[in-house]
Amino acid sequence: MYSLHLLYFCCIICFAFAFVNVLDTNVIPIHYNLLLYANMTSFETQGIVKIDVIVNNPAINVIRINSYKLGILGASLEGIKSTSIKINDEQQFIDIEFPSDTISPIKKLLKSKSVLEIIFQGKLSDDMLGFYRAQYKDKNTNTSEIIATTHMEPIYARRAFPCFDEPKLKATYSITLLSDPAYTHLSNMDVKESFMMENGLKVTKFNRSPKMSSYLVAFVVAKLEYIETNNFRVPVRVYTIPGHKEEGKYAATLAAETLKFFENVLKIRYPLPKLDNIAIPEFSAGAMENWGLITYRTSDLLLDKNSSTLKKIQRVTEVIQHEVAHQWFGNLVTMQEWGQLWLNEGFATWMSHFAMSKFYPFWNVEERSISETLRAAFSLDMLASSHPIEVNIDNESDIQQIFDAISYSKGSSLLKMISDKIGETAFITGISYYLKNNMYKTTNTSTLFKYLSFAANEDISYIREWTTKPGFPLISVVENKDNIILTQSKFLATTNTTISTNDILYPIPVQILTKDGERNITMKEQSMKIELNLERFIKINYNGSGFYVTKYSEERLNKLFSMINILSVSDQLSLLNDIYFLTVSGSLSTDKLINYLQYLKSSNSYLIWEMIYKIVISVKEVYKFDYHITNLLDKFVISMAAQKFYFLGWEISKDDSQDVKQLKIILFILLNNANDPIIEVVSKELYLNYKANITAKIPKAYITTLFEQCGKRGDIEDYEFLLKVYKDSDDLNIQQSALMSLGYFKESDLLHKTISMLLTDDVLKQDIHILMSGIRSSPEGTYQLWEWLKLNWVDILKRYPVGSSSLGSIVKLCTIGFVSQEQYSQIKYFFKDKSVITYSKLLDQSLEMIIIKSTWRDRDFMRLSNYLNNTNNIH
Ligand SMILES: [Zn+2]
Repeated sequence: MYSLHLLYFCCIICFAFAFVNVLDTNVIPIHYNLLLYANMTSFETQGIVKIDVIVNNPAINVIRINSYKLGILGASLEGIKSTSIKINDEQQFIDIEFPSDTISPIKKLLKSKSVLEIIFQGKLSDDMLGFYRAQYKDKNTNTSEIIATTHMEPIYARRAFPCFDEPKLKATYSITLLSDPAYTHLSNMDVKESFMMENGLKVTKFNRSPKMSSYLVAFVVAKLEYIETNNFRVPVRVYTIPGHKEEGKYAATLAAETLKFFENVLKIRYPLPKLDNIAIPEFSAGAMENWGLITYRTSDLLLDKNSSTLKKIQRVTEVIQHEVAHQWFGNLVTMQEWGQLWLNEGFATWMSHFAMSKFYPFWNVEERSISETLRAAFSLDMLASSHPIEVNIDNESDIQQIFDAISYSKGSSLLKMISDKIGETAFITGISYYLKNNMYKTTNTSTLFKYLSFAANEDISYIREWTTKPGFPLISVVENKDNIILTQSKFLATTNTTISTNDILYPIPVQILTKDGERNITMKEQSMKIELNLERFIKINYNGSGFYVTKYSEERLNKLFSMINILSVSDQLSLLNDIYFLTVSGSLSTDKLINYLQYLKSSNSYLIWEMIYKIVISVKEVYKFDYHITNLLDKFVISMAAQKFYFLGWEISKDDSQDVKQLKIILFILLNNANDPIIEVVSKELYLNYKANITAKIPKAYITTLFEQCGKRGDIEDYEFLLKVYKDSDDLNIQQSALMSLGYFKESDLLHKTISMLLTDDVLKQDIHILMSGIRSSPEGTYQLWEWLKLNWVDILKRYPVGSSSLGSIVKLCTIGFVSQEQYSQIKYFFKDKSVITYSKLLDQSLEMIIIKSTWRDRDFMRLSNYLNNTNNIH
């Protein structure tokens, strides 16, 4: 699944109830024969599932199977009717009891196949989970239409049909769909036969699937069109609602090329007879890798390549390659249990980056992984409320906690570290063995290390420390005349990091850049001495791929920054990561952090400027309620960047190289954010042109910023205009930018108007986080959002019930913007009598961030203020 938090774009998924237990394995499914009818007007569903099962324990005459909010009409085992069916929606299962004299029939069935049949009914929900309905407006007919579609990961298949809903309980599936004949039917597999029944219903039988986990089952009933490419061995299609298939061209071609690429790299054929990709109008995550039928949020699949920004193309590419990678990592070979989720998500993330770097070598994928993937992982893993990559899942409600930057970004960073250590060839060989030997099965982390060690020809299982321990190390460097001494300790944002003998030890592959080239060592002890003439020493963590932060002496840091321009962009980015996270933890003061940024002001790398922008935004977030400081910071940014931008000019010419284009874009964003008075005039004029429909000269990549600026300074007329853009635009990106911009209006009537939209159908449930992100960007919005949450908690729970996909994100977005102890206490107080178990980690992370920011703010307030006053006066 492509998580929205990585955008942070994936809503974390929350669960309905406090404790949902894992099924025992008394009864094992072998094959599902599922027949399902979807009534597209009443939204009712009816189904029969016949499951070939093997009974392991004959002494039990009760079969427990997952089911949630389904009406169970009857059940039988080998034709013997059940005596009772106990529905336990709280625990999400049903117990089907058979007469006690059937113990002996069951005994007879021991280890031989028998058929469990369950007749059930349900409802197409509107909560984007299980078998649900997604609404859209058909612009040709101006009618409201629905798509019936599925989202089963991690434990929602039980909402669509009774099933043994555990990843390790793999089975084959023969699916049959019935509906009104106006609708197209899709599922994981290709169509076996399709016909009309006498009652006028259309029936589609799909071929039997390979063995797979229940969370990968998918089916769709909808009015659709598609485009197809035959560039691959099997047909690859992109399905859309009517009128949009042309926007699927890029995706179809890319998906086919990516299948080809992964087949070649992994030396394993894609085993299904087709791959469909479908854009779903309402979708809780970014995308979902259902085998043979990948579902996507529309904006993550469709685009017009000629008019899209590079960021948009990169995003769609990454999501598609991530999902295609899952066809092997996750679908063909699956994690044994949810606590091993990183084997799916870490790999899909790493494989998508690997593919992108080969498909688009000029996209700087390696460098971006330092400023995006590593930074995202550090930002979460620095918290005491983080968790190890491998976790124990005691109850299934815990699963939601791990669809986060640890499983995705830290998982991927760890794989990169291993690949760098053993070499890419050995790494690819290792993962190919791992896949080949576990096809159609489930696996775990120790199995992975077994195959990697085999391919590397050395035992690298000691690296597993990284998956079982939370956090990451800080390496402190002490320099002597003829050697350097490295000491590791656990990096923590909440305290000043000091070296303690109780610290966790990580085996760290350390790459050192010297004047003679790179030196590679593996640091397994707390401290190690490396003989190295200081004259020859340059930098630790060569090229920045190591998962640690380095702390140098001030003298060395000054030296590194004074020669920053001779370091590679990767090394510059890694140094920026170092100084930023050292500042978070209090090891470096904010004035020094800001001062070091100045050394990069002549940089022509847009990646460096993007990183500067991220750092400035983070510091501004800490001083969000201190206008005096944010104004000084803005002046500082203008003094650093304006000259370069005006030299380049704001217009983007077709002759500009991609790097120059990206540089202009990030400087435009940075200076707008800093309220540069000159750029304000330019932006205003561009916005007025946009309003007057003179759009030819406006770079598409500027539009989000133009809307944002308009929101920050605009009046009611602008508000109405942007609201209209949001409601009427056909371009999803423009629509989303307009939606977010509504959150920037500060005038209290307008802010209230925006906030009152949150619980209405004016904002799709899948998009609530977009509007909230806009609102929470300002101090006023941060307060109002929190007030809104407190006042509307009951209504929020009605629309986003505990168990809906967005509740955790809502809680986090409404709380994380604060920076004071007082606010921390208020939030704690509000939630003290609430049942927080399904979003407790997100709430803990928010609370911890508030404390970190509050400590940071108080610690450096005076120093930063003095520094900025002095520096700005010099300029
Ligand atoms: Zn994924």
